[in-house]
Amino acid sequence: MTAFPMADRLAALPPYLFAEIDRVKAEVRARGVDIISLGIGDPDMPTPDFIVEALCQAAKKPANHQYPDYVGLLAFRTAVADWYKARFGVALDPASEVVSLIGSKEGIAHFPLAYVNPGDLVLVCPPNYPVYPVATGFCGGEVKTLPLIEQNDFLPDLDAVTDAEWARAKMIFVNYPNNPTAATAPRSFYEKLIAKARATDTIVVSDAAYTEMYYDPADKPLSILEIEGAREVAIEFHSLSKTYNMTGWRIGMAVGNAGLVKGLGKIKENVDSGIFQAVQEAGIAALRHGEPHAAKFRDVYRERRDVAVAALTRMGITCRTPKASFYLWCKVPAGQTSAAFVTRVLQETGVVVTPGNGFGAPGEGYFRIAMTVPVARLEEALSRIAGKL
Ligand SMILES: *Cc1c(COP(=O)(O)O)cnc(C)c1O
Repeated sequence: MTAFPMADRLAALPPYLFAEIDRVKAEVRARGVDIISLGIGDPDMPTPDFIVEALCQAAKKPANHQYPDYVGLLAFRTAVADWYKARFGVALDPASEVVSLIGSKEGIAHFPLAYVNPGDLVLVCPPNYPVYPVATGFCGGEVKTLPLIEQNDFLPDLDAVTDAEWARAKMIFVNYPNNPTAATAPRSFYEKLIAKARATDTIVVSDAAYTEMYYDPADKPLSILEIEGAREVAIEFHSLSKTYNMTGWRIGMAVGNAGLVKGLGKIKENVDSGIFQAVQEAGIAALRHGEPHAAKFRDVYRERRDVAVAALTRMGITCRTPKASFYLWCKVPAGQTSAAFVTRVLQETGVVVTPGNGFGAPGEGYFRIAMTVPVARLEEALSRIAGKL
């Protein structure tokens, strides 16, 4: 058998940093240890019943059994626009400023194909969701990193980019509330970013998947489209995945600048045929009636957060109390690397957490906890770790 060499774009991918963790996890499981995974950002609670019910009804309609339109049902895009208006006060034209996505990851991965030529510069802020640099690399784009560090509240230093780099930059990816650092961005940061982008013709890609996972109504995260002038340069990716516990359903949206939405649509027109319409109908139900459920999920995560932050503090592990997202971004005890700490915790306690450097070099020295288990399991996991520190 010929072993077909994979394309250069795959060979150029960074090594998979979780491979060693996966290996140790299999070994620990084989020993019969009860593994508690705080590793994956996937809500543990089920999708609300009324959304599942809407899918069941919609699945019975023959009209939904045919190819959907790749941009999405106008009724879904209208529900997105109405939700943006109600939640952020942002008015969107459903026909030209909204496109449906097969999960926001799909849209984020495809977006650079519409705008990045080989050699173009793209700004990425590590530690980051790995899709941004990977999608850039697939287009032959060059990544410049703007590290997120604690002293800057995990916001990128926009002044560290030279004028020549801004002139070359095709786009910048930002993600607040942030995965993995759990940081949120103040209005002043977005204002500065939008001003810079408008002055230098740089596309701003905002990944806003976690705006509904906040803990205090006073800290409700912003949409970048709330910023004056943002519509000239920004596209925002959002998703039903985290808000309504719908990660398995694959439904999200991109909104904002009509030209950018159209460019993404042009790629999608050529590579996919949209989301199953029954899922879109369920998505409409979620956007129109899901808020009381999202509020209940926030209450659950708040309890987990308070319990976990208190336990970590007692253990002497440093971690900021997040205002949003379901992550805790914790400092590894002094003198250990992220990988060594995480591997030892897994081997000795059966608890899986994610090494910070898996999200890029500036994540070294941190580990990420995803609060995706019931509070009793979370307490159990943390007390096991405390016993081994
Ligand atoms: C979970 C997540 C998403 C959402 O992904 P979907 O494809 O919509 O499920 C987007 N961005 C980040 C940073 C995430 O962590």
